[in-house]
Amino acid sequence: MKIGIVGAGMVGSAAAFSCVMRGAASRIVLVDLDKARARAEAEDIAHAVPFAHAVQVDAGDYADLAGAGVVILACGVSQKPGETRLQLLDRNAEVFRSVVGEVMAVCPDAILLVASNPVDIMGQITQRLSGLPPERVIGSGTILDTARFRWLLGRHLGIAPRSVHGYVLGEHGDSEVLAWSSARAGSASVASFAAQVGNAITEDVRQTIDYGVRHAAYTIIEGKGATWYGIGAGLARIVSAITSDEQAVLTVSSVSDVLGVHDVACSVPRVVGAQGVNAELLPDLSDKETEALRASAELLKTTVEQVSL
Ligand code: ADP
Repeated sequence: MKIGIVGAGMVGSAAAFSCVMRGAASRIVLVDLDKARARAEAEDIAHAVPFAHAVQVDAGDYADLAGAGVVILACGVSQKPGETRLQLLDRNAEVFRSVVGEVMAVCPDAILLVASNPVDIMGQITQRLSGLPPERVIGSGTILDTARFRWLLGRHLGIAPRSVHGYVLGEHGDSEVLAWSSARAGSASVASFAAQVGNAITEDVRQTIDYGVRHAAYTIIEGKGATWYGIGAGLARIVSAITSDEQAVLTVSSVSDVLGVHDVACSVPRVVGAQGVNAELLPDLSDKETEALRASAELLKTTVEQVSL
């Protein structure tokens, strides 16, 4: 399947590179306001093709997105000194107003995969601007937070993160909820598995993992200015779930009703395949986790209502 990526910055380029390494698409077209950047990234990434999968990688204009089955939106502006989060949101909404229009004009049947932050809100704005049904507009949501949770739990338990099944729900941001009560190592609860391997999840361990997940972005940004590899790999994972009609369970955002909060884009595990989101699977949660998820959804809803469109 041909895919498009609008925004060939660090995140868009990392997503393209990851798609090449996992063979998630047959053709990738990178579009950016900065055409020289898009050309350079496309060429650099294409040089990995002889070591990876047979993917054709090019830079192009919006017209070159025609026929794309998925378009990743990774474009945007960054926060100016003194600018509030809402002012930044308004500016990014403005960027998306033109970008989504351009994309829809050439590939109205594509699934839109939103990566620009704040991703839940930008996903909801994209759904409104595009007029597409909610299941065809997916935000990367907490896919990365979930990966961080599984990685940290896997390290503590001494097992592969792929064998850890635990989700981060809600906002991709400070109010996100680590669903500890439903987390599994293999098929055992993480607490039971931890006891079996003699490495209990004490309150200290729990807090360290919680902090590690919640503050990962801040820590990485302190060291290198931004994050891109993890999210790039997460975006390629979503693309491959779509291109191979996998029905994979992934924590992505999409506009729906969550715990009585109507018409909100926030992350819960969703089944993703060729048509986009096919179903939602809310895990069993403790009362405290349920309340925290509802509060996170309400926060997102309040924020999106303040964006001028
Ligand atoms: P990130 O770390 O999120 O990838 P970057 O600043 O590296 O952030 O990348 C954002 C990219 O989006 C830049 O390459 C920028 O040129 C691009 N961009 C910004 N506005 C638009 C737009 N209207 N259309 C296409 N690309 C855009």
